[in-house]
Amino acid sequence: MSTENRGKTYTVERGATKLRAGQGLGTGLGVVIKHFADAFTKKLDSPEKTSGVFTVQYPEERLPLAEAYRNFPILLYDDASGQELCTSCFQCQRICPPQVIHMAQAKDPATGKAIPAVSAFVIEYDACMSCGLCAEVCPFDAIKMDQEFELSTDYHSGLTVDKTDLNRPISFYEKLAPTFWGEVKDGALKKLQANIKRRPGELGIAPQMLGKVPTNPETAPLELRTTT
Ligand code: SF4
Ligand code: SF4
Repeated sequence: MSTENRGKTYTVERGATKLRAGQGLGTGLGVVIKHFADAFTKKLDSPEKTSGVFTVQYPEERLPLAEAYRNFPILLYDDASGQELCTSCFQCQRICPPQVIHMAQAKDPATGKAIPAVSAFVIEYDACMSCGLCAEVCPFDAIKMDQEFELSTDYHSGLTVDKTDLNRPISFYEKLAPTFWGEVKDGALKKLQANIKRRPGELGIAPQMLGKVPTNPETAPLELRTTT
């Protein structure tokens, strides 16, 4: 400060508002009180409605997850027919960056020819990076991303998951992601119907649905078919 300005009184303006003594303190205190009050009005039914700064008492309390939230892949089967949507086209296996998807295509035991169904499907969850590329590339909407994240285990091999544990009914995914499934549902079910016609007997039926659904009515049971 130059010597000629010494002793003068200055008023500091913050924006267009002149603050009186103590006014800034009052404003800051107001913010603190608002956050304090918000902490007692937390709502856990929707992320959009949630406001304020508070602690979620996990695992007793949980914030709902957004539809687009993804963790690890699962495979879908049709609730009514028990038929898996996967045709073993290998596209997800090819695109998976860490190469953690492994599968084998089913074969018609009567002819030895490959059919659009999968006989074995394994994903190594411990090395999956949840990128979702497998689900994006699948032309049959057979593989989707689940939201389950509590998968810790005390044995490493428990994270190598086979078809029996990967399989979920379509109704499960429809509840999880109603918008996403609604966008692809008609096309996916149409393709499934076309593929079922090429699956003899029990081939293509999810392991957990065997014995609960009739075998493919459009093809003869395996024991009645003749080798051509
Ligand atoms: S989410 Fe990504 S890393 Fe995981 S299995 Fe699918 S493609 Fe592979
Ligand atoms: S999950 Fe989809 S992309 Fe992967 S093999 Fe099956 S049908 Fe093909």
